[in-house]
Amino acid sequence: MGTRSRRDVLAIGAAGSFALTTAAEAAGFGNPDAPAEGALNSTPGALSDPGPQDQATTDQLPSFESPPPTDVGGMPTFWSSFNIAPKRIQAGGWARQMTTESFPISKAMSGVNMRLGPGGIRELHWHLAAEWAIVTNGRCRVTVLDTEGRAFVEDVGEGDLWYFPPGLPHSLQCLGADGCEFVIVFDDGSASEYNTLPMTDWLAHTPPKVLGQNFGLPPDAFQNIPLNNLWIFQGKESGSLEVDRAAVAAGGASTQGFTFGLASSQPVRESEAGSIRLADSRTFKISTTIAAALQVIKPGALRQMHWHPNADEWQYWMKGQGRMTVFDAGPRAQTADFHPGDIGYVPRGHGHYIENTGQEDLHVVTVFKAPEYQDLSNWLARTPPELVAQHLNMDIAVVRTFQATRYGIQAAVPKAG
Ligand code: MN
Ligand code: MN
Repeated sequence: MGTRSRRDVLAIGAAGSFALTTAAEAAGFGNPDAPAEGALNSTPGALSDPGPQDQATTDQLPSFESPPPTDVGGMPTFWSSFNIAPKRIQAGGWARQMTTESFPISKAMSGVNMRLGPGGIRELHWHLAAEWAIVTNGRCRVTVLDTEGRAFVEDVGEGDLWYFPPGLPHSLQCLGADGCEFVIVFDDGSASEYNTLPMTDWLAHTPPKVLGQNFGLPPDAFQNIPLNNLWIFQGKESGSLEVDRAAVAAGGASTQGFTFGLASSQPVRESEAGSIRLADSRTFKISTTIAAALQVIKPGALRQMHWHPNADEWQYWMKGQGRMTVFDAGPRAQTADFHPGDIGYVPRGHGHYIENTGQEDLHVVTVFKAPEYQDLSNWLARTPPELVAQHLNMDIAVVRTFQATRYGIQAAVPKAG
């Protein structure tokens, strides 16, 4: 803005007599940058974009094609999508992923989208990253061994979570005739579903004599084991949960809860504008390295301006459509549009907000590499109004109304006063 304040511009605009007050400036309360950014501050000739371009992609990302004039370019891309990740398809199911290698900002966490068909099995394996997941479709059975060497076997469905601590061996098995789908988050951006330690690989690379001695059997007992790992494979439909649990009961059942019903939990915040549900180590005790929030934002509503002081945020956009703007020092600000299957990533401490730009509820699950969920959004309501009023050139009576605002998700038309 140079030497003029936004208020000056508004005042001049109201008077309608100052040549420098363009329609563009008035529409944005005056542009904050010099030189000014945004289509409003340009000309039709300069805005033209005859191509070549991929119109379908451009149409999906209108905020990239024409950023709001309050954006400042130059922020690392925080938008990605499973829709641009190649699938690895095998008999039994498929998976695709987005790690730091293909999404550089995603350093603290990586994401995997996996589907298992009827009878599909993700084979017994382990890895050094912790594994958090949310079921998005169908039902599946998880098995995991706890640190006492006891079995945990449980069935999960849509909206349920699992968490496997680093190094604990586990498997996933589709239940029912319709297949199942889930999204996995590893607490390490470089962790890959293609680089795990499969049980079959280890056995194939162990001499038969050692295998025999290990299990107290003749070496020939292992003559038909697969010589390549299975990763995902077509198995038989599993039996009842009770039968599977009973089959491993002799070793003792794990008392740890490796699964959690996030979608069926009580919201921590709920209003006509939407809801927020949480699962972190305070409620989902085993999940010591991952905290998660499931946000439902109604049409026209806003997930208010906030940031997270303790962790990066990894996002999976599940339903509906919206857009997010991220703010960082510089100043830098960038807006991106999101659709189902897209991934967002907000580094720790970066301010951000989400607008539902569609006609249906927007569902976004946000995942943090932290033991506890923390967000900050009510700062200006908890600071002496006199101090805030001096910063913002606002009437102190108006600033005091900040204290009456509910923080979380704000409806399309906020109540006055
Ligand atoms: Mn795993
Ligand atoms: Mn957030």
